[in-house]
Amino acid sequence: MKKISFLILLTVLILFPLSDSIQANEPLTDEQRNQIRKELFQKMQAATNIPWYYFAAIDQYERNLRFVRKDLPKPQMEISIHFSEEKWAGILNPNKQDTNPMTIAFFNGFGSDGNGDGKADRTNNEDILAAMANHILKFGTEDEHIRMALWNYYRRDKAVGIIIGNTKIYKQYQTLNLNEKSFPLPLQHDYSYKNTWGDARGWGGRRIHEGTDIFADYGVPVRSTCYGIIEMKGWNRYGGWRIGIRDINNTYHYFAHLSGFAKDLKVGQVVEPGMLIGGVGSTGYGPPGTSGKFPPHLHFGMYKDNGSTEWSFDPFPHLKQWERQEKLKNRNK
Ligand SMILES: [Zn+2]
Repeated sequence: MKKISFLILLTVLILFPLSDSIQANEPLTDEQRNQIRKELFQKMQAATNIPWYYFAAIDQYERNLRFVRKDLPKPQMEISIHFSEEKWAGILNPNKQDTNPMTIAFFNGFGSDGNGDGKADRTNNEDILAAMANHILKFGTEDEHIRMALWNYYRRDKAVGIIIGNTKIYKQYQTLNLNEKSFPLPLQHDYSYKNTWGDARGWGGRRIHEGTDIFADYGVPVRSTCYGIIEMKGWNRYGGWRIGIRDINNTYHYFAHLSGFAKDLKVGQVVEPGMLIGGVGSTGYGPPGTSGKFPPHLHFGMYKDNGSTEWSFDPFPHLKQWERQEKLKNRNK
């Protein structure tokens, strides 16, 4: 059954690959796609009073899930919020491809008509946004109402937390173009690192090394690598003083063994690439305050969330890329 609906969806996507706002044969840049997205979100805000950055945050959360999950179709349109056929038409609706808003409403489906053509089309950007908007409007348009609507929809605290985090970032910067990254240490300092992801680590039982160690002098500034939210800050017996930042692509950036934290840094705070968050240190491998059991270095890790679990991946190629990009940028200044 699942396979069949997936095949039908594939057919739908092949027959109607993109919304009417897209001209065929013209691949869009990320910035152009983001521009189209933002206009769609703002249009929906004007119609519903739900702030545009909520649509942006939900859409971004779902797009990231679709890139990492095999059971969801890869994003094809500007808007990536995914409704299964059953969800769209209503579970008891005998017509799984129903596009009639009246019968869909009768069967309690999410499907909605957002562009006013009389059809609830699961492959139309505006109809998809309208479906999410109509769900939210059942709860209200205040922040706490929307939070309840999100919890009711996703049933997972972490999903709600990530989406609320995204809203804070979009609200602050008023743009969807937030993919810029920074190398965690200022490039003018001496540092060295090599690829040791997956190596065995002895302390505290058998573990693998889930990151890259960047060796530098004690106290060298450590900076945020991305636009994101401080999700965690504190002590851990392995990582010492450490910070976790979740970026706009739902990737978790982890900084450990810090000498200390930047002043006034708070959990829930929005950060941007290059912003000071702490210093290189050698804390960890014991109770709070333990330091000096190994040479000072920044342990940098990256983790991906797929909506139910989180796993470590190798940050080394990313560090290399950010370092290269930053060198290039500095040269062109
Ligand atoms: Zn390490």
